[in-house]
Amino acid sequence: MNLRRHRKAVFIGVGTMAVATAAVLNVGFIVANWRTGLQLVLGIILFAAVITGVALNTIFLVREVRRNEQHNNFINAVTHELKTPIASMRLYLETLQSRPVEESKRKQFYSAMIEDTDRLMHTIEQVLVAGQAGSGRKIELVHVSLSETIEQCLSLARTRHRLADGELSFVKSLPSGTSDVVLGDPADLRTAVLNLLDNAVKYSGSKIRVRVELDIDEKNRLLIRVKDEGIGIPNDELKRVFGRFHRIQNATTAKIKGTGLGLFIVHSIARRHKGRVQALSEGTGLGSTFILQLPPAPKEA
Ligand code: ATP
Ligand code: MG
Repeated sequence: MNLRRHRKAVFIGVGTMAVATAAVLNVGFIVANWRTGLQLVLGIILFAAVITGVALNTIFLVREVRRNEQHNNFINAVTHELKTPIASMRLYLETLQSRPVEESKRKQFYSAMIEDTDRLMHTIEQVLVAGQAGSGRKIELVHVSLSETIEQCLSLARTRHRLADGELSFVKSLPSGTSDVVLGDPADLRTAVLNLLDNAVKYSGSKIRVRVELDIDEKNRLLIRVKDEGIGIPNDELKRVFGRFHRIQNATTAKIKGTGLGLFIVHSIARRHKGRVQALSEGTGLGSTFILQLPPAPKEA
């Protein structure tokens, strides 16, 4: 809210400055009319100021319009993600209430309803976690093994997306004796890895081939790479995808549901753990790789 007010103040400030400069330019022209040299210098400076002001204002305006669009898309996506599972559960419950249903069918209904509640929980959790991510909440740090975190997330993702073994694999390529332990919040780290896995599967299309690698770089930072062979990311979107509510808008992504919060959450978690996250892709249709980089836990004396 404060940020929005601040942004509004910037708009108004720049706009007022541009108008004031234009007025000074006019008056200055009249006053300085008899001195051609002064008039020229003043004219150039003031014109430059007006042009800069108008350009800045336009940039702010475009950003604000884009942000508004993203907010609207987010609200539509969240409303859809909340309404669909509720409508589906209601339908099952009404059927169960209105007529006798045979045992096997009833079990199917129950599983479908559990899936619907999972979907609801996922949406609510994304919104809650994203809210906390922006609040600069302090985390309690404990020693966490990244291999264990990855294994837990893989098993969750396998059940959640009903994946076959070959569709999601894990390769640990740490040199022997290298610790995979970081100082972090276990739930946060799981959330980050799960979001990357969810995306890798979701944006893979029909051929799911996701590979997770645990590695270390030359500066001894632990790296979790999540690679897919899916729809890929255009070059100019590689940084933007981490923005809050940001979703790539094209015909392919329009069919895939999401709130645009997942990568924003991953980015905030990486920063809270003094790490970073990066997206790589050769382009549309050529798959994507997300690298989560985390500092290892300091060695105990
Ligand atoms: P949510 O994760 O909140 O359900 P989402 O998946 O749309 O929604 P993010 O995870 O933040 O949101 O991703 C932002 C955008 O980045 C996505 O909408 C998608 O366009 C793009 N993206 C993310 N991961 C991938 C990937 N592995 N391959 C291709 N595009 C991706
Ligand atoms: Mg996502």
